[in-house]
Amino acid sequence: MQIVDINCSKKYQIIIEKGIIDNLGNILNDYSDVNKFCIITDSNVSGIYNEKIKGIMSKCNAEIIYYTIEPGETSKSGEVYLKIMEFLAKNQFTRTDMLVAIGGGVVGDLTGFVASTYLRGVDFVQVPTTILAAVDSSVGGKTAINLKSGKNLAGTFHQPVKVICDSDMFDTLPKDIRRDGFAEVIKYGIVNDKELFDKLSGNIDIEYVIKKSVLAKARLVEEDEFDNGNRRLLNLGHTFGHAIEIAAEYKYSHGEAVAMGIVIVSKAAVAEGFLAKKEYDKIRKLIQTYGFNLEPEFTAERLYEIILLDKKREGENITLVVPFGIGDSRLVKLTLEEVENYLIEGLN
Ligand code: ADP
Ligand code: ZN
Repeated sequence: MQIVDINCSKKYQIIIEKGIIDNLGNILNDYSDVNKFCIITDSNVSGIYNEKIKGIMSKCNAEIIYYTIEPGETSKSGEVYLKIMEFLAKNQFTRTDMLVAIGGGVVGDLTGFVASTYLRGVDFVQVPTTILAAVDSSVGGKTAINLKSGKNLAGTFHQPVKVICDSDMFDTLPKDIRRDGFAEVIKYGIVNDKELFDKLSGNIDIEYVIKKSVLAKARLVEEDEFDNGNRRLLNLGHTFGHAIEIAAEYKYSHGEAVAMGIVIVSKAAVAEGFLAKKEYDKIRKLIQTYGFNLEPEFTAERLYEIILLDKKREGENITLVVPFGIGDSRLVKLTLEEVENYLIEGLN
C-alpha cells in the first residue's frame, strides 16, 4: 500500500493499493454522518465492475444510489451535469451526503463539478480507474464540464475528501487508454522526477509509478493551488500537444498529442542549447517504447497558427515549459517569434 498526503486548502489522502476496492464499503463507513452515497460511474466501468461494486457496497451501512453516464468526453456536458443534479434532488440528497466517482477523468471531472455546486458543495470520494485519472485528476482539485465553445471551460476547484486507487482495476483498461496515461507519467519524470523517469523502462511497479507521479504533481500543486506559477510546469508538452489535438481535430488522443508535444519541445531545447542531445535521445526512446506515434503530419506553420489563438497566450508572449534536463524542466517566457522558431526546430 502507498499513501500520499495532499496538503492543499483541504488535506486529504490518496491511497494506492492492489485490490483496495474490496474495502470500499468499510472505508466509506468511516464517514458515519453520511446517510446516502451516490455512486457515479460510466457504462463501461459498470459493465465490468457492476456486480463487484454492488457486492462491496452491500457492506456499507448507508443507503446507496447509483447514476451511470455514457462513456466518453460528450458526457462532460451541461445536459448531463443538470440531469445528475436533478437526480440527486429527486433522491433527497442532502449537504451531508456524499458522491463517489468511480471511473476515469470524465467521471471524475463531472462528479467533482456536481459535488462543488450541488447545494453549494458536497463532499466526494474519487476512485480513479484509469492511469490518467489516478495521476492527473486525483491531485489539484480541478473539476470541469465542457461548453460547446471548448473543453473544460466551466469548472471549479474542489478537492475530494479521499482518493482510493485500486491498481488492479487498470488491468481491464483498453491498451491505448493505458498507454495514454503513461504520457503524463513520463511528463512528471521529465518535469521534476528523474528517478521516476529512470524506473519507467523495463518492468514497472505500477503502485510506485502512481505514487511518484502523484507526488510530482502534488509538489507543484501545493505551492500553487490556483495555477499561476510553477504549477504551469505541468503543461510540459501540452502547448504543442494541444495545438496538435486541434490541428488533427482530436484524431489523436490526448496522450498521443502530449507525447508528440514533449518530443517537439525537447528537440527544440537541444537546438537552443538547453538540453543535452543524449538526454533528448533518452526521452524520445522512452516515449517510443510506450508505443506512441511520434510523427505528427503537421507543419510548424499550421501549429503556430493554432497557438496564436491559445487562451494561455499572454499578449505577445507565451510561457513554454522547456526541459533543461530529465527531472529539470523550467518555464521560459518566449516571444511569439521565438515560439515559431521552437516549432521549426522541434519538427525538423
Ligand atoms: P481518462 O482517460 O481521461 O481518464 P475517460 O474517463 O474517458 O478518460 O476513460 C477512458 C475510457 O476508459 C472510457 O471509455 C472509460 O469508460 C474506460 N474505462 C475507465 N476505467 C476503466 C477500467 N478500469 N477498465 C476498462 N475501461 C475503463
Ligand atoms: Zn494532459
